[in-house]
Amino acid sequence: MNKSLQSKQTGSMEIGLIGLAVMGQNLALNINDHGFRVAVYNRSSAKVNAFLDGPAKGTDITGAHSPAELVALLTRPRKVILMIRAGAAVDQTIEQLLPHLEPGDIIIDGGNSHFSDSNRRTCELAQQGIRFLGCGISGGEEGARHGPSIMPGGNPEAWPEVKPILQAIAAQVDGKPCCQWVGEAGAGHYVKMVHNGIEYGDMQLICEAYHLMRSGLGMTVDEIEATFSQWNSGLLDSYLIEITTHILSFKDERGAPLIDQILDCAGQKGTGKWTGISALELGIPLTLIGEAVFARALSALKPERERAAEQFPRRPSAHPDDRQSAISAIHDALYASKIISYAQGYMLMREAARHYGWKLQFGDIALMWRGGCIIRSRFLGDIKQAFDADPQLENLLLAPFFSQAIEQAQAGWRRTLVLGIEQGIPLPAFSAALAFFDGYRSARLPANLLQAQRDYFGAHTYERIDRPRGEFFHTDWIGSGGNASSTDYKG
Ligand code: NAP
Repeated sequence: MNKSLQSKQTGSMEIGLIGLAVMGQNLALNINDHGFRVAVYNRSSAKVNAFLDGPAKGTDITGAHSPAELVALLTRPRKVILMIRAGAAVDQTIEQLLPHLEPGDIIIDGGNSHFSDSNRRTCELAQQGIRFLGCGISGGEEGARHGPSIMPGGNPEAWPEVKPILQAIAAQVDGKPCCQWVGEAGAGHYVKMVHNGIEYGDMQLICEAYHLMRSGLGMTVDEIEATFSQWNSGLLDSYLIEITTHILSFKDERGAPLIDQILDCAGQKGTGKWTGISALELGIPLTLIGEAVFARALSALKPERERAAEQFPRRPSAHPDDRQSAISAIHDALYASKIISYAQGYMLMREAARHYGWKLQFGDIALMWRGGCIIRSRFLGDIKQAFDADPQLENLLLAPFFSQAIEQAQAGWRRTLVLGIEQGIPLPAFSAALAFFDGYRSARLPANLLQAQRDYFGAHTYERIDRPRGEFFHTDWIGSGGNASSTDYKG
């Protein structure tokens, strides 16, 4: 007999889960594996029975066919985790739950919600006595089943209640759960959003290295696969490099690399774009992730690119003679660019923490990303160590480990970009990273001219290097204007 039809012990289940698509099903099984009693519900209730009779058969998972039935199954304070489509669906489901909940109960949104929605929901639900948590969950289907990275934020009073469950089901690295308290309101979803942005950056960097090896050095797919495999046992050891080696070794039905048959048009669901938008709003130069988002947008213009390719055919130079040293340079460019990408991501989180009043623990964030999620890597262990050594670290680039690494990689990084330019291979993320580095380490930039231009056409004023900061000057550049300066024109 179906479990949902068996007599149920009202109020004995420790957590309820709503949403039985791929993430919810796997998370419910994971929770059950760890000895917690879980009840599940899905809007299309046929999926409840299908789950109980399928993947959940033989487990202790119990089904419910309405929000009321689900809530009635839970112990107090009730804890309900939503694993449903982000956006209006979350608000609608919360609305359906609210009449059955009581003050002190907890709603956990485990989907990819925008952090501003989690800011709002934490506040609105607190007014009704409901404790809300917005938890970023990363790791896809596999992570949800066997241990994801979980980034919880929201109402801090709810955290101790759900901490034992969430930390038990999360990935563990060196005996530590990849799930630590992130911060108030939307902080958990913000950190998850930045994680996704960094994922965009990491993927784009790997794609650029692949492109340069394939078209710039004329390497075969097998040779590139062997190179990535080798890199995966060193500094670049990561899940994304590992899956890249699997992808490159995968052969189609004719025995040829499947990768060569895949259309070069990238999709996106928007979290990279959200990260870029937040960076623009907060004034943080998140250039690499921005380029990674735009690279996907450019890839999507396939027919237009094909027409342009006919009009502007690539005229590459001869492949370099010393392939081995070129490969080593590409390795260094990838490593250095990755450091820049994470440095920029941490700059963004630092500014967001200041702006929204969150107390983010940067070392803990690196710890949470070390296992379970898509960007997991050895590299994150080095980031954790850098923040452990100096919790107030101003910028990752300034940590001794990373500044030395950048120094060592610099020559190869620059050589890689020259190679890309000579061969006509686009390297937007590698280039953005190097341009950022050169800008960041420049004590003097051409913004003096920019300020003069702004003052020239809009009387925006400028500061002088021979006067204290905060003293503003306006020049009558053409000798015909007045002395009035602009206060509100933002051109
Ligand atoms: P999904 O395809 O994003 O969403 C499907 C689920 O949402 C179904 O249970 C569906 O119920 C429910 N749903 C949709 N609209 C609803 C509404 N108006 N009211 C109530 N329920 C509604 O599922 P998913 O891929 O498992 O992802 C779940 C969440 O985790 C999402 O926020 C997603 O962004 C996030 N996430 C996904 C991954 C991944 O790899 N897939 C990784 C990390 C995070 P019905 O069956 O009734 O349609």
